[in-house]
Amino acid sequence: MKECNDVEVKQDQEDISMETGKTGRRDFLKASLVVGLATASGALALNLGVSTAEASSQRKLPGKWNESFDVVVIGSGFAGLAAAAEAAGKGASVVILEKMPVYGGNSIINGGEYNAWTDELHLREKLKLGDDSAETHKNDTLKGGDFFGSAELVEILASDAPKALNWMIDEGGLKLRDVLNRTGGHSKYRTHTCVEGVGRGYTEALRKIAERSGAKMRLKSKVTWIWRKDVNGPVLGVEVDTGRGKVNIRAKKALILASGGFGRDLEMRMIYNPSLDKSYNCTNQKGATGEMIRYAQAIGAEAIHMAFIQLYPYADPETGILDAPAVYPFRGPGYGIVYVDEKGKRFVNELERRDVVSRAELATGGKKTFSIFNEEMAGKMGTQEEVEKGLARGRFVRADTIAELAGKIGIDAAVLVETIQQHNGYLKDKKDPAFNKNITPQMILLERGPFYAIAQWPAVHHTMGGLRTNKNAQVLDIWGKVIPRLYAAGEVTGGIHGTNRLGGNAIPDATVFGRIAGINSASERA
Ligand SMILES: Cc1cc2nc3c(=O)[nH]c(=O)nc-3n(C[C@H](O)[C@H](O)[C@H](O)COP(=O)(O)OP(=O)(O)OC[C@H]3O[C@@H](n4cnc5c(N)ncnc54)[C@H](O)[C@@H]3O)c2cc1C
Repeated sequence: MKECNDVEVKQDQEDISMETGKTGRRDFLKASLVVGLATASGALALNLGVSTAEASSQRKLPGKWNESFDVVVIGSGFAGLAAAAEAAGKGASVVILEKMPVYGGNSIINGGEYNAWTDELHLREKLKLGDDSAETHKNDTLKGGDFFGSAELVEILASDAPKALNWMIDEGGLKLRDVLNRTGGHSKYRTHTCVEGVGRGYTEALRKIAERSGAKMRLKSKVTWIWRKDVNGPVLGVEVDTGRGKVNIRAKKALILASGGFGRDLEMRMIYNPSLDKSYNCTNQKGATGEMIRYAQAIGAEAIHMAFIQLYPYADPETGILDAPAVYPFRGPGYGIVYVDEKGKRFVNELERRDVVSRAELATGGKKTFSIFNEEMAGKMGTQEEVEKGLARGRFVRADTIAELAGKIGIDAAVLVETIQQHNGYLKDKKDPAFNKNITPQMILLERGPFYAIAQWPAVHHTMGGLRTNKNAQVLDIWGKVIPRLYAAGEVTGGIHGTNRLGGNAIPDATVFGRIAGINSASERA
């Protein structure tokens, strides 16, 4: 391929209409084919990574820019959409570049769980679920990550999570279910669910706000390089593979990396944690690969906590899929769901963190474990429609009695009946001598059917490591200095969740820091 600084690549890539989600060519694009903004033509671009062809040390800064925007955002998940919405809302011209043919990344397929210690609907008070505070959310988050997370960043996440949630409700039309869950590692009932029960509820709200503010989105636009001239200089723009050639887009004010995690990048995840080989399924979309972290490292960015890679303990044992039924075991602990192994015995405190539950599952020596719950609990965890669909697809199994349920999932009936009776006894005694679970009044006895089971097993889920950022969402270099005009938010960042992300904390993380990145990038001088 020719050097991109030698040619004016004909840009005929398509924009996505944020309104319809359909693609269509935009006139403004044709008009801005070759903006021709001169850089130091022929100057070498900073590049500390020389291991791949794309990262050749001989790369030259583009002599001309094909296009130019105030703010360029990489990735169209929660973080990218929130950043684009805020930056465009402050008057910046904004483009979101997304490599996949559909928008949304892991965000749009996510389980729809959002932690906030309060909300403008006052759900916790209405449902009489006790007290909570930003401080408690912060402490649970830090503890859940074994105190490896930055207290400063976690404090922002916890205190701003309700504001970001209310913003999506007020400005994006987000709707929530009338329920709050207490999920693994949380000491309070603070996990909100959108009515759709999947991340699309939030991405659509964010997409609407971003579109209204004037942000553009381009699909099938893979960023293949970040341009920066030297170690003291700002980031200048990006190289983009449009599928029909490469173009260079200048970021006049700032570049925001919102490119997600690297759970699907087998090679990269095995560099940091060799045990997570291909025998593990993965819950992520195919585009969850780590090239943007690599490019950022190659221009001097620091990446931290890269070995902390989370397993989701409730994925489908066969495929690793995290579909609507696979979220029930996650939502259930606060309402008394019981996890059993293939022999029908409990093996862990159901209120434990994901890493603890995953390890306990692997230690059973089996190939799957099960969640057991009943109709009353199902009403707290989801909708009748979801349950019926899950049954039709064979994901849920239903029976009138625990013994019958055991037969249907291949467990010795006498053992499962004894386990459930014992657990009922613990709830009545408000004491769990087996696993020391904190019993709450919201936990439901498994006495009245119909009863349900779902199979569950760990799959690679979340990469806690990534680019090191500060409270302004600016990316730091290996010396701890801000890289001028470079911001990052969401799963591409590291250092917030520590060793283990608590379920429901990723949406607030991505939206809160996405907003911060968007606001700050718009206020940079062009
Ligand atoms: C199945 C599933 C369920 C989940 N459920 C929950 C939940 O209920 N609650 C919760 O808090 N968290 C949940 N998570 C985690 C959460 O969804 C993610 O951490 C979050 O979506 C990350 O958002 P993001 O904006 O950082 O990245 P993403 O949403 O992953 O977006 C990043 C985008 O960047 C694009 N991209 C990457 N590289 C490039 C490139 N070179 N050029 C252009 N584009 C690029 C990707 O294709 C992707 O679309 C879940 C995750 C999964 C996979």
